[in-house]
Amino acid sequence: MRRSTRTTAALTLAAGLLVGSTATAVAVGEGPDYGGNEVVTTSILSTYDEVADFLTAQDAKQDAMELEVIGQSVKGRDIHLVKYLSDPDKPTILYLAQQHGNEQLTTEAMLHFIKSLGSGQNARMLQDVNILLLPMFNADGAMGDVNFSLDDYLAKGERHLTRYNANEVDLNRDHVAKEQPETRALHENVLGAYDVDYMIDLHHQGTQSRVDGDLVSGSILYPTSPDADPAVVEGSKRLGSVVYENVDSTGWGHIGKYVGGTANTIGRNGIAVEYGISTLLFEMRGMSDHEYAPYVLGQKSNGYLIRQSVVTLTSTAKAVADGSVETADTSFWDTLPEQQG
Ligand SMILES: [Zn+2]
Repeated sequence: MRRSTRTTAALTLAAGLLVGSTATAVAVGEGPDYGGNEVVTTSILSTYDEVADFLTAQDAKQDAMELEVIGQSVKGRDIHLVKYLSDPDKPTILYLAQQHGNEQLTTEAMLHFIKSLGSGQNARMLQDVNILLLPMFNADGAMGDVNFSLDDYLAKGERHLTRYNANEVDLNRDHVAKEQPETRALHENVLGAYDVDYMIDLHHQGTQSRVDGDLVSGSILYPTSPDADPAVVEGSKRLGSVVYENVDSTGWGHIGKYVGGTANTIGRNGIAVEYGISTLLFEMRGMSDHEYAPYVLGQKSNGYLIRQSVVTLTSTAKAVADGSVETADTSFWDTLPEQQG
């Protein structure tokens, strides 16, 4: 199977960062945004075809992995679900990336995580947890293959990336109506088909949010719908505790509380309400492309943001596998400051 050079480059970048993981006191969250005149190019990001090739190659290599196509995007791209299913009696965690197509570093991190799950050192963990991953949910938006103009978008490169699907719908506002093919595939063939306990919905936010005066590396939030079962929300807070403890302790992570709405059309809320899944939103700093400059982050920040996502994926899978998520201390939520700006 041909390995994609660009995907390989992204993985090598992430792997190098993980190996050289000695935390420094550098405030990496202060990496320049587009307004700081850093060049932003999309050419270093994995394309849809490169992601698909990578997943096919990993599927051929990894015994524990299964690759399923759960449906097609508006433009006919297959939507891939990566599955590690060991035992239906074990807990299941679902990771969702790129509901918004211009939020891609979480996808790069997911590819690295999938590769790491094929290494022998994770074989034991995979016996104690079922893992489901959707690496590039909104593939048309990610490839800029949409039915509206992206001429005003700022990043340089062969493609633009946009929040919306090809029909210019925000998929993360479609979790009640489920009118788009991507959302329907997720609900019918993943959320309704597997007994999922936990879910992390991975996103990117703007570049300018701060806590205690410093730019955040990201922000987290549990379901805030009034319809959500308090026990489900408590599970979300425990999952958030695992993320916070592991990212904040790195020395470079700086996490705020996301300020989010209560509508059930949002995945974090609607999926918790409809399926009783303990969902967590994790927003990484800065988007890969946008028409609004303060949202776009320079690529000098790619390394630590990919690493932040990898830490999130790795630590939560472990915590669900070893059961430590069930006793995680949620008291930090009472004092976690809401991000400003
Ligand atoms: Zn998003």
